[in-house]
Amino acid sequence: TLKTNQLHQTYRELQERTHELLKSHRSLEESNRFKTEFLASVTHELRTPLNSVIGFSRVLLKSRSNEQSSKEHRAVEAIFRNSTHLLGVINDILDLSKIETGSITLEKSEFLLSDVIQEVFEMLEPLADKKQLTFQLLNYARNLRLVSDMAKLRQVLINLCSNAVKYTERGSVVICIERADHEELGEVVKISVRDTGIGIEESEKNKLFVEFSRTEAAINSGAEGTGLGLMISAKLVQVLGGAIDFDSEFGVGSEFRVCFPTALSATEQWTAQVEGD
Ligand code: ADP
Repeated sequence: TLKTNQLHQTYRELQERTHELLKSHRSLEESNRFKTEFLASVTHELRTPLNSVIGFSRVLLKSRSNEQSSKEHRAVEAIFRNSTHLLGVINDILDLSKIETGSITLEKSEFLLSDVIQEVFEMLEPLADKKQLTFQLLNYARNLRLVSDMAKLRQVLINLCSNAVKYTERGSVVICIERADHEELGEVVKISVRDTGIGIEESEKNKLFVEFSRTEAAINSGAEGTGLGLMISAKLVQVLGGAIDFDSEFGVGSEFRVCFPTALSATEQWTAQVEGD
């Protein structure tokens, strides 16, 4: 009887502990949700005035008159640069909170993959040119149609390509589209972005998709960044039903790849073409 009583007692204690744990788990979840919602509303409120700071400083930069001294001009440039950076951070946080609260919605349409790639390519070309990098588009896949969320796909590609350009000082950035077989997704369209940049050290590879984390080499390179882009990209790729991964050799270069099932494509006519064909 003594043993039974003891067992009973332990069982009751266990039950109480479980109950307490469940309660604290629920309250943790609640405060996490609150944090995310709070972040979303604050960042949203910050965006509007910031956009006007950016807009007005752009006007001042464009309408530079003789009266404006070079010191004043540099000050306006700094306002423009820093406010644009801040907007980037705010947008990243806003995206992240949308993903975390599950309030992200897919807006699917049918589009040509090459249109998105071309847009991304044109957007980043000036930056690559400025750094004198060879910026190339291989296997253009001109006729491949996807049914997906174009804006989200574009955001992922902008992220990967701008990282490649940002973290490469010499050499090239190459975007390549090909058909491939993916372990989990089966037949996919694979978009890879290869660079000859700073690379990622073995010991830092596991923190790439963690929020706010940047590698030492990236920080030392002086390139601006929030450490949020890849995490957001990974979540977006997941929402889009795809997969993301990378290979990298420190000091040599990196390759980031995203894959999407070709079952997503509608009236697909795959013709891989080298640019210029
Ligand atoms: P960031 O805003 O810092 O670029 P990301 O989330 O896009 O943030 O990337 C996280 C980190 O991963 C970067 O800070 C950098 O350390 C590393 N990284 C991403 N892309 C590359 C690349 N192409 N080459 C080298 N390092 C990269």
